[in-house]
Amino acid sequence: MTTMNTESVSILKGIGKETEEVLSELGIISLYDLIMTFPYRHEDFRLKDLTETPHNERVTIEGRVESEPSVLFLGKNKSRLQVHVLTGRHLIKAVFFNQAYLKNRLSAGMVVTLTGKWDRGRQVINVSSFTNGPKMDHADFEPVYSLKGLIHQKTFRKYMRQALDLLQDSLQDCLPTYLREGYRLISIQEALEGVHFPKNAEHFKQARRRFVYEELLNFQLKMQAMKKVRKENEGGLPIHYDVQELRKLISSLPYELTNAQKRVVNELCKELKEPVRMNRLLQGDVGSGKTVVAALALYAVITGGYQGALMAPTEILAEQHAASLAEWLVPFGVNIALLSGSVKGKTRRILLEKLRDGEIDLLIGTHALIQPDVEFKQLGLVITDEQHRFGVEQRRILRDKGENPNVLFMTATPIPRTLAITAFGEMDVSTLDELPAGRKKIETQWVKKESLHPVLNQLEKELEKGRQAYVICPLIEESEKLDVQNAVDVYEQLATHFSRKYEVGLMHGRLHSDEKDRVMREFSEGRIQILVSTTVVEVGVNVPNATFMVIYDAERFGLAQLHQLRGRVGRSEHQSYCILLADPKTEEGKERMISMTETNDGFVLAEKDLELRGPGDFFGTKQSGLPEFKMADLVHDYRALETARNDAEKLLASDDFWRDEETACLREQLNESGALSSERID
Ligand code: ADP
Ligand code: MG
Repeated sequence: MTTMNTESVSILKGIGKETEEVLSELGIISLYDLIMTFPYRHEDFRLKDLTETPHNERVTIEGRVESEPSVLFLGKNKSRLQVHVLTGRHLIKAVFFNQAYLKNRLSAGMVVTLTGKWDRGRQVINVSSFTNGPKMDHADFEPVYSLKGLIHQKTFRKYMRQALDLLQDSLQDCLPTYLREGYRLISIQEALEGVHFPKNAEHFKQARRRFVYEELLNFQLKMQAMKKVRKENEGGLPIHYDVQELRKLISSLPYELTNAQKRVVNELCKELKEPVRMNRLLQGDVGSGKTVVAALALYAVITGGYQGALMAPTEILAEQHAASLAEWLVPFGVNIALLSGSVKGKTRRILLEKLRDGEIDLLIGTHALIQPDVEFKQLGLVITDEQHRFGVEQRRILRDKGENPNVLFMTATPIPRTLAITAFGEMDVSTLDELPAGRKKIETQWVKKESLHPVLNQLEKELEKGRQAYVICPLIEESEKLDVQNAVDVYEQLATHFSRKYEVGLMHGRLHSDEKDRVMREFSEGRIQILVSTTVVEVGVNVPNATFMVIYDAERFGLAQLHQLRGRVGRSEHQSYCILLADPKTEEGKERMISMTETNDGFVLAEKDLELRGPGDFFGTKQSGLPEFKMADLVHDYRALETARNDAEKLLASDDFWRDEETACLREQLNESGALSSERID
């Protein structure tokens, strides 16, 4: 019986060779494909009261024809037919364009159901569809599918109706009864009916609820099964690191680790010791101290006899990491090398040789680390900082360089819980949810652009106290050249304004790397007091004495980016300030500015950002790896996602899942998803 599903759509009445081809272009081949093609919306045919219908809105009414129809011919094939209709207490005109033939089907006294656009001022309805008789016979909702104009909605609906009727008895419900009953989910038959031809709004809602859960459950089963299979099959390197050495390093640090740092270091070390490959995401808000955690994990691996690699998205950041790590690790005899685009020729050749020989313990750099000729002797751990900047492919290449090394991705973009579960569902996640003690909340103000002068006065006060400042320049989407121009303009203004009193520096992506290096060094050594910059400083730069930030045109930035930028200040015990110069035009923009002034918590902002922008835009690019769902919506169906995640976990852990008749269908789908094959690379 179940084979009915795979039956070709061609068995339906009215589908010949031609239609079959059209449908296959829409990805519909079997009857099952057809019924799983969900409408993207429904036309609403519920009866409405005209008193409450806004002008120009589409509406369905029922009424009695009060006059004989009159037709006005307006030229070739053009006509206007008009009748008076009494609906409720309204006597209105119903107008039909170019349907003069309806004249014989309408007569005074008959009851009709009309759908059309309501012209409130003239009390006219422009009829787009009409049926004889009362509304009764017509459904409240009619599905509208995404058909790319290849086939008529009406025709498609007929096929759908047939297919649903045909499959009615043979459809198997993949959800085990106990889950369905436990969550009061409607059966697959009812749900399909409710998605395509809902009896009423509630029916659709219940249908949606069922499919959302089912979809998320299948997704979670897949993600978790993948993780399980990987752990069981990959047999990563067990790293026998030296705990004593690690403790020595920790006590040599200039501060005590936060509890969160301690917890995460333990999580990492525990996993390094096991013969499974680490595939982990470390998320921690800006300033939560990820760098030192990375250093500790890398040192652990090095004491175990392996090499480590740390990859950063920009040269500035790679250099800064190299400096920090050298300060901590060189006293412990670690050999560190920096590989950036500017390391060339002989120097580079020698460096690579030492890396191959195992003379270099730790290699730090940008994506220059993943060039083909970079070979390690024995790579044990790869850490990538600000991982969302790396493509999936780059990560894979780097991972493939070693003998299946452990991989840790670090990100300061806190990922909303929903996205962490979905996008990184197959990864383990460690979270630094605590900032080092003594940090003060960064005071954030949203200021209209015309009030720049008071801001400059505020800025000067900070400088007088010996602090430093960032001025972030307007961002012009897609045009680095214009960004640079803006930065140059602002730089010149400020240099004039503060002439001789304070040193102003300029930083942007077009500067030669030597020049960037010089500016950054002068800023971090305090020789430059004000750094005017494009968003190149967004990621990771650490100058604790900088306590003041002005962000021009702040409304052009997303919340996540603003939070990242702001994270450049507030890195010491001094009070820090962030001024958002913005004249947002949209409500959403205003809300973003307000959110920034209200909280310093990156996780709260991330949730807000997701809510404002939706999951597609959250990561900005296609590399997010977010799955596409037919029904589920990651923002609004968060609760369902959590439930599904827990259920998937329980199912996979129980022996019954792998045996029971009830779960056979879920198992089959899991198998088809490829999650159970151990040959996946990623
Ligand atoms: P992020 O997580 O944003 O990469 P960093 O690693 O750059 O943060 O750390 C931010 C600042 O906090 C640095 O100046 C670092 O030295 C300092 N820091 C890190 N951990 C601690 C700690 N446990 N106590 C005090 N300061 C710390
Ligand atoms: Mg960092």
